[in-house]
Amino acid sequence: MTGPTLILDLAGFRENVRTLAAMVAPARTMLAVKADAYGHGAAEFATAALEGGADSLAVLEVPAGIRLREVGFTVPLFAWLHGRDTDFAAAITADIDLGVSSMVELERIAAAVRTAGSPASVHLKIDTGLHRNGASPEDWPALVSAARDAEREGLVRVVALWSHLADASPADDEAALAEFRAAVAVAAGLGVEPPLLHLAASSAGIREPEARLGLVRFGIAAYGISPFDDVDGRGLGLRPVMTFRAPVLALEDGVAVLAAGSGDGVAPVTAADGAAVLLEGVRRPVLGVDVDTMTVGVDATAGGRVTPGDVATVFGPGDDGEPTAEEWAAWAGTIGDEIVARASRRAARVIRR
Ligand SMILES: *Cc1c(COP(=O)(O)O)cnc(C)c1O
Repeated sequence: MTGPTLILDLAGFRENVRTLAAMVAPARTMLAVKADAYGHGAAEFATAALEGGADSLAVLEVPAGIRLREVGFTVPLFAWLHGRDTDFAAAITADIDLGVSSMVELERIAAAVRTAGSPASVHLKIDTGLHRNGASPEDWPALVSAARDAEREGLVRVVALWSHLADASPADDEAALAEFRAAVAVAAGLGVEPPLLHLAASSAGIREPEARLGLVRFGIAAYGISPFDDVDGRGLGLRPVMTFRAPVLALEDGVAVLAAGSGDGVAPVTAADGAAVLLEGVRRPVLGVDVDTMTVGVDATAGGRVTPGDVATVFGPGDDGEPTAEEWAAWAGTIGDEIVARASRRAARVIRR
């Protein structure tokens, strides 16, 4: 082995989905497989998500949804981030539900329907404070009315109203939920009452039962990573799915060189951040991270005997004392999503089914 290896616990992932789906039932579970399933591999993990009890899948953009259709996924797919060149006709032909944040998007979708020949299923998005996309409360009535009119013309079906929480704090989420309910009431007043409402991702899905509504769009929690600062994935009864390992290439003067670096997605941290890897049963401090390699201290007094060819666990579930992705996220000042999504760049993959 000359480079890093990812071990992906597909069975653990399936179990996580089962745990989360049971937690939020009767709300349904939509599983986010965006960013190639956070670096885990979209098609493989989408299949496992459905086996674990998810009944729909969320991708970020239409092309990722089309790729899932091409490899045979027939379940509901939802895409909500659209660019200026998004091919809505292809999305409609592929039966992908579309998030709609603005009049411009609605008009483009309506135009595409005339090409595709069948109506588009749309989820109208209200912005409840995240300011990423979604209609502002001022624009909301006009968007809802236009969608209603387009529905009467047979161009769209309004199947859901939705928003996304910032997960900043429980108080913020509560305020956002109230805003969402107000927007739902405005839509009802305009004659738009779709069967589905959705708002929560992992964080609110787990901690705020009243935000679960019709479905929860689970992302990172399904991969065994906690969305909270005060508890890790295992503390939530979840199984961290990804283990990242790297062999020792060389050993000199109490320093081991590992075959994984920033080019492999290792965050640029040092022992000063607290960063460590598990090597021969002992946590060893990270001395530095280069493009292709990283160095760790292997002080003889720390115990364990390290020789070239030994394999370090950079992060994993934590069962044997190795750091978790959450710990790496804290050291690097980022979120666990980033740690796992980056780690997949060049590593060889081993999937445990
Ligand atoms: C990423 C994303 C999710 C999943 O978020 P997690 O916090 O990872 O669970 C859900 N909904 C939307 C709109 C997203 O962008």
